[in-house]
Amino acid sequence: MSRPLVAHLDLGALRNNLEVARRAAPQSRIWSVVKANAYGHGLERVWSALKQTDGFAMLNLEEAILLRERGWKGPILMLEGFFHHDELSIYDQYRLTTAVHSNWQLKALDDAKLSAPVDVYLKVNSGMNRLGFTPDSVGTVWKKLQESPHVGQVTLMAHFADAESPEGIIEPLARIHQAAAGLGCPRSLANSAATLWHPETHYNWVRPGIILYGASPSGQWQDVATTGIQPVMSLESEIIGIQQLQAGDRVGYGGRFKATDALRIGIVAGGYADGYPRHAPDGTPVWVDGIHTRTVGKISMDMLAVDLTPCPHAGIGSRVELWGKNIKIDDVASAAGTVGYELMCALAPRVPVIAG
Ligand SMILES: *Cc1c(COP(=O)(O)O)cnc(C)c1O
Repeated sequence: MSRPLVAHLDLGALRNNLEVARRAAPQSRIWSVVKANAYGHGLERVWSALKQTDGFAMLNLEEAILLRERGWKGPILMLEGFFHHDELSIYDQYRLTTAVHSNWQLKALDDAKLSAPVDVYLKVNSGMNRLGFTPDSVGTVWKKLQESPHVGQVTLMAHFADAESPEGIIEPLARIHQAAAGLGCPRSLANSAATLWHPETHYNWVRPGIILYGASPSGQWQDVATTGIQPVMSLESEIIGIQQLQAGDRVGYGGRFKATDALRIGIVAGGYADGYPRHAPDGTPVWVDGIHTRTVGKISMDMLAVDLTPCPHAGIGSRVELWGKNIKIDDVASAAGTVGYELMCALAPRVPVIAG
């Protein structure tokens, strides 16, 4: 590795965060959500740090097969179910649990040739209007599933559009209760936000994702600062150049940043082609040589610039943390108008990753 930019993954933090989720929902089993290549961390690298989980949830068949090939024998939930009817033979072969959200999937299940019944998560549309059956149709679907010889255990599943806010689950929960009335089935409703903040949604299985990786479902680190979750990914680099600016000098493309006084800046190996957000404004937090400082100027493809005023001892080779334990990914994301989810998922393939 010649270029100094590296993503470090703290697998102990991942194990810790699973424990935090467990303490938050002690009566429930946990689907650890590892979609999108474990939120950009690399499923292959991280899954075994989560093997105390009760099941893994994702949506790519390739990822599910990888887990089976690596030896995971527990439950695997496919959050969007099968996309085409011919995938059902793979569900059968690898013992995958499928979400069912549309009528065509019911028909495909009926027509399938399976060696054993497949477990189903019946998806209710809780008002988000993404996937799922309307609450008033759930009873009929439930009955059809019960009658199908190809269907094993059925669990009612729903997702919240706004579990970050205190009132955000009231209406969806009412719709879910309406859908579940009289069915007496197990339920799985809670994402990270509901796992942390809405115990009344926990039921049989919770489905945390983002908190496992140590970021906040609300996008604000302070909302999770006292929960005990720890950042898993640290994106670290070094200063590879120094510039001494005079008042009036500019930095980077378009000269967006203009120095008002003399200013010493450092050039960091890291840019948007690594997954650092191009929209980060001047003043985005960054950590250099043990000290909090700020970015200056537009983010380039491969480099960015930082103000070295608070760290006069920093020079070529000084350590930089773009996000991690000291600079929360949520803080970088919110400065750039996005969320930690997007930044971690967008870590570029060219960035070397060290997991330990
Ligand atoms: C992504 C996802 C989750 C996890 O969401 P977080 O906000 O990351 O906890 C849970 N359930 C479903 C259906 C999802 O798609």
